Amino acid sequence: MTIDIGEPLTALGDASLGDASVDDWARRRDSALVGSYAPALRLLVRGEGCWVFDDAGNRYLDFLGGIAVNSLGHAHPVIVAAASSQAATLVHVSNYFATPSQIQLAERLKAITGAGEAGRVYFGNSGAEANEAAFKLARRHGGGSRPRILTLTGGFHGRTMGALALTGKPALQAAFGPMAPGVTHIESTVEALEAAIGDDVAALILEPIKGETGVVPLPEGYLTAARAITERHGVLLIVDEIQTGIGRTGAWFAYQHEGVVPDAVTMAKGIAGGVPLGALVTFGWASDLFQRGDHGSTFGGNPFATTIANAVLDEIDRAGLVQNAATRGRQIADAIRAIGSRHVVEVRGRGLLIGVGVTPDTAPAIGAAALEAGLIVNAINPTSIRLAPPLIVGDAEIEEFGSRFATALAAV
Ligand code: PLP
Repeated sequence: MTIDIGEPLTALGDASLGDASVDDWARRRDSALVGSYAPALRLLVRGEGCWVFDDAGNRYLDFLGGIAVNSLGHAHPVIVAAASSQAATLVHVSNYFATPSQIQLAERLKAITGAGEAGRVYFGNSGAEANEAAFKLARRHGGGSRPRILTLTGGFHGRTMGALALTGKPALQAAFGPMAPGVTHIESTVEALEAAIGDDVAALILEPIKGETGVVPLPEGYLTAARAITERHGVLLIVDEIQTGIGRTGAWFAYQHEGVVPDAVTMAKGIAGGVPLGALVTFGWASDLFQRGDHGSTFGGNPFATTIANAVLDEIDRAGLVQNAATRGRQIADAIRAIGSRHVVEVRGRGLLIGVGVTPDTAPAIGAAALEAGLIVNAINPTSIRLAPPLIVGDAEIEEFGSRFATALAAV
């Protein structure tokens, strides 16, 4: 049977919105999208490497990488090839069926997380979905005898109702109560953990570096202590590596810097270079918790997303990008210090997840000045600038960053 598909497509969507002026596209965006996003900063139409371009042809050095998502930068040939060939082969089937790329990716995640043979992988489509799965995993533990979950104040785990309940930011929860019950937020200290934990606790869920709080690492030794304490109480240690994972901090996962073995890890963001994909990987006995029918996702782990994730992981391996994240992170931190700005108070983070602590209330102005200077950084709070450039960043981009960031800091 031949199917007539008509004329071949000549344009892949209208990338320019015609001759829309800034006011026009901004107004159209605000009247078309939910009101929960801030007004858009620019209308972006394409990207290449570590650069993105707006509708007027201006280019911006992207040191936010779609918030730690564009691990290979923009329009990377590896992603282009994987996406086009898989789109022409098999985009989606249901989870009633297996696909080679899904199996390969799951095996690969078991290996790079250290979960090994006993590991099991659940695929969703975002960070929040990975954490929803982690929440349900925790509920499964203890057969009802462990109704409590501990998470950290200031932590961020997503916007869906389960993930929001885990999020330690009351301002984000305030309008949406009641929250899922049983979640206690504790300070990131060993004393607070010792005081809160007990045999009624199913899990401790935490980020190794609190990204949305301004790139704030856990106190030295905390993760190792938390592993020992949770183990003593039979409590799952679940590490949210949605922002820190997939090489960003200079290890595949940040817990590996500490030699800690968790019971589960969640990931998303950088795993497929911008194509939506999230995953929960369970370790050891935690892999026996989910029973058939407990959880699922229509799109989760489809051949399109998993093929691209496999290609991204291949390229990270081939190009040594985990190591690159470690060395380039130090180079960027040095470049920031070398600017010698009176606004820079400290440089935090690890690898290519960097928080620049700045003088009170200057971050928004620095972020805006950077954009004017053709540099995308993220004023995550009034005293912090977050950087999460693509893992492919090199000497040329770091030199450009140094001069553009210096211009921004001088303008404030
Ligand atoms: N967990 C962490 C640590 C995150 O940084 C984020 C997103 O910023 C999430 C969870 C939620 O991920 P998503 O926005 O993909 O749902």
